[in-house]
Amino acid sequence: MRNFFPALIVSMLLPSLLAAQSTPRLFCGNELFSEMVATQYPEWAQSIEKTFEQAKLTQAGQRTTLTIPVVVHVVWNLPEENLSDELIEAQIQVLNEDFNRMNADTGNLRSMFEWVAGSADIEFELVTILRRETSTLFNVDILSGNIIPEVKHTDDGGSDAFYTGNFLNIWVCNIQPLKIGPIVIGQILGFAFPPAGLDNWPSGSNAPNEEEDGVVIDYRVFGPDNPTPVEIPGGTGNLVVKGRTPTHEVAHYLGLRHIWGDGGTFGPNDCAQSDGVDDTPYADSESAFDCDITKNSCIGIEPFYGLDMPDLIENFMDYSSEDCMNMFTKGQVQIMRNVLMGPRSGLLQMTALDDIAASGTMMSLMPNPTSGSVHIQFDQATTVESLLTVADPYGRAVFKQIIAAGATLTTLDLQGLSDGLHAVVLENNQGVQVEKLLIQR
Ligand SMILES: [Zn+2]
Repeated sequence: MRNFFPALIVSMLLPSLLAAQSTPRLFCGNELFSEMVATQYPEWAQSIEKTFEQAKLTQAGQRTTLTIPVVVHVVWNLPEENLSDELIEAQIQVLNEDFNRMNADTGNLRSMFEWVAGSADIEFELVTILRRETSTLFNVDILSGNIIPEVKHTDDGGSDAFYTGNFLNIWVCNIQPLKIGPIVIGQILGFAFPPAGLDNWPSGSNAPNEEEDGVVIDYRVFGPDNPTPVEIPGGTGNLVVKGRTPTHEVAHYLGLRHIWGDGGTFGPNDCAQSDGVDDTPYADSESAFDCDITKNSCIGIEPFYGLDMPDLIENFMDYSSEDCMNMFTKGQVQIMRNVLMGPRSGLLQMTALDDIAASGTMMSLMPNPTSGSVHIQFDQATTVESLLTVADPYGRAVFKQIIAAGATLTTLDLQGLSDGLHAVVLENNQGVQVEKLLIQR
């Protein structure tokens, strides 16, 4: 029925790339990633499709706001690549607006599509920024099928992933122009891995793996007011950057595909391809980083609820200019929420800890963050013996100590623990308190 990721082999892909690309092209690396993995692991496309179908079938249940903790890795060489805290926080704000339909430009949506626009009720909470200076150049190796895995490994000049099961990791770096030999064929602005980890994931496949799960964004398209321009191929000016590339890539990470259905990555597309979402009209091609509201690429084909609708260029999963994108559809929202409560539910665990911590009154920690030791003050001298446990973000106990009745203060030496967010749990027959402790060196 649908043909999402045709399994072209790379050697066949190259001549068509060269023939088709008279000018270099901007694109999301998800296209390239899909093509490469589908080639190397034919089961992958089936697995993703099954994930997708399961996500659609799962009922969303009662609607509550879901919060995703975010770790941003800034892997930089040139000073302009070392993005400021303020710019990173502004990007998180853009995500919060776009995923909650709180963005200021919702009014730009054509009225004919207002009824399909939805809010995901997903919030993003910046936990920490990890900065790594590097001399590595992040070149996409199109022949090997690798999309810069080195940015995710400290030993290779990148920054090690931070508990990808529990945190959305976003790496920001300078993605080098995509080349075949000396010929520049395009620029990847970002890429992300969709959810996987199902029982039917092909055994022996390590692409993607836990250490490389997350989102990668070129530093020039991160943040709403990024100072470094990106030229649109063909000399039509600079890309409008409003922080929507991360919106697009995080949505891939939460299970969405491109709105035109990813028919053929570099070859011809057609109206038979679907993104699998019922409330997005068919399109035979992506937008060209423009705002063409006259584009109606599938006239008379698969009418959209009986209507012949133009292409939904306002959607975040198209390649429209960022100042024309302003919405997800209700169908897309449902998939993202279900993925978050299903294959990516680990992301919700740390914020659940917050809710428990808010009710505690038995202890306080300082300093927090810490580089090695932490003082724990018991707010009221404990009248009973208590158990103090430190757990890593996967909930594994990595430290335990009995606290005697009457203790008012204890100091823990945490030198042996790795960097990252931990939970400190105090429990006795009077209750339980959980506090988050960030170890950062
Ligand atoms: Zn994409």
